Amino acid sequence: MRRTFLRVLMIAALVAGGLGLGAGAAPAPALAAYGAVKWPATGVITGKVDDRCPGYDNHDGYDIAGNYRSVISAAYAGSVSYIGWDAGGYGNFAIITHTNGWSTLYGHLDGFVSRMRVGEYFNRGDGIGYMGYTGGVSPPGIGGTHLHFEMLRYDSPQVWNSAGTCGQSVSRGNSIPFDFAGLN
Ligand SMILES: [Zn+2]
Repeated sequence: MRRTFLRVLMIAALVAGGLGLGAGAAPAPALAAYGAVKWPATGVITGKVDDRCPGYDNHDGYDIAGNYRSVISAAYAGSVSYIGWDAGGYGNFAIITHTNGWSTLYGHLDGFVSRMRVGEYFNRGDGIGYMGYTGGVSPPGIGGTHLHFEMLRYDSPQVWNSAGTCGQSVSRGNSIPFDFAGLN
């Protein structure tokens, strides 16, 4: 009952906002803000969703190759929901859960900042760890140093390939030019 009621309220609010209803109200803010999510690392894009610029299939995120031990930051504010080790895959990785079903995954990290733990809250742009080459990277070793970064919604990796091009340099903290609906 309660959930349904809240959902109806939310839908009503969304509809009203989207239609710009309300007596004398200023235009409603957009439901999501283009560029609200920030690049979590500085480096060069060497992989995108389903594409390693070019090549492999079944790649669920962006790869950003940068300097070993450079800072990785939270792309959006949220609480850490998972910290893991995946020897053949993600290596040291963490997942931060955001609002509206969104979460972000950061893989191949060399290590984490000292306050990293499940439940810890990070603001957008806060350092969470350091770029590395743990897990399965190609080429193996420090030459494969990069961040593997996924945008997930309800635990499913999303496709957002228009946000960047292969070989493009990106800077940590700069806006990702993409509208992730629900993140504003
Ligand atoms: Zn990757």
